[in-house]
Amino acid sequence: MTSLPIFNIERFAIHDGTGIRTAVFLQGCQLHCQWCANPESQQVGPKLMFLKDKCTGCGRCVPVCPQHAISLQDGKAVVDRTACTACGRCVKACLNDARSISGRWMDLREIHDTILRDRDYYEETDGGVTFSGGEPVLQAAGLEPLLKQLCTEKIGIAFETCGHAPLENYRRLAPYVSEWLFDVKSLQKEVLKQYTGADLDVILINLRHLSSYDPARVHIRVPVIPGVNNTMDDMERLAELMKECSLQKVDLLPYHTLGLTKYRQLGIPYPFGNEHAMHPEDVEPLKEYLESCGLTVSIGG
Ligand code: SF4
Ligand code: SF4
Repeated sequence: MTSLPIFNIERFAIHDGTGIRTAVFLQGCQLHCQWCANPESQQVGPKLMFLKDKCTGCGRCVPVCPQHAISLQDGKAVVDRTACTACGRCVKACLNDARSISGRWMDLREIHDTILRDRDYYEETDGGVTFSGGEPVLQAAGLEPLLKQLCTEKIGIAFETCGHAPLENYRRLAPYVSEWLFDVKSLQKEVLKQYTGADLDVILINLRHLSSYDPARVHIRVPVIPGVNNTMDDMERLAELMKECSLQKVDLLPYHTLGLTKYRQLGIPYPFGNEHAMHPEDVEPLKEYLESCGLTVSIGG
């Protein structure tokens, strides 16, 4: 049976589409957004997460590592990431919860059964399942049998996408999806390339395709990032594009730093550097401008 790389499943999610939802987070993404809140999701495959602050230097993890990837330095464990295979043996050895493995392959049956556990809540709230990531559209072929099954069971399906996947994948998924949460990070080609690695043309082709299929299903989300996309000029570009595509709803998501701990756990620096989160009131003027353009705007998911 097909397996998919999952790094989290969140039940009772309320910010990932209408109603109460189960959010299924898949690994794998073509972008490298500097502010990414889920850096463990960018590459496919399990990863060792290690929180040095919790390490007491007891040394229990050192002898269990088959790769000899762990040593003790200055009273703390140190991991040689080039040797680690994310086997998880050190996780079991650690009594201080300093270690965990993020990401595992789950077969479609297990994902399906997890989603259906909250079916009653979906029915009561017009909710369902949201596939997020990473970039879930990259897994279109593997997901399709599951989506078919969920449609026959009348489970609402949403996708949260960065828009950067092959057009063919969007075509394949569109008949099953009742709500697209489509991220727009910057509509300035060079800015987008610099901060995310994305090709704006790819994203626009996909957005125009989904909008022509059914604009009412497309809901724009803008992670508002200071110094990247938080000017009135950025909002003007967004309003023009939404008008062209007959789109109505947009969420402004103020920049947050909730992913910082994950960078520490992965032993990598935070590329964006700015560690000061925005507040909802910081994006209020942007909201007012977009509303003046006739759009329906909310702050947060
Ligand atoms: S996950 Fe496995 S390979 Fe990696 S450090 Fe722990 S025991 Fe060693
Ligand atoms: S077992 Fe846990 S607490 Fe002990 S040295 Fe290893 S990571 Fe640190």
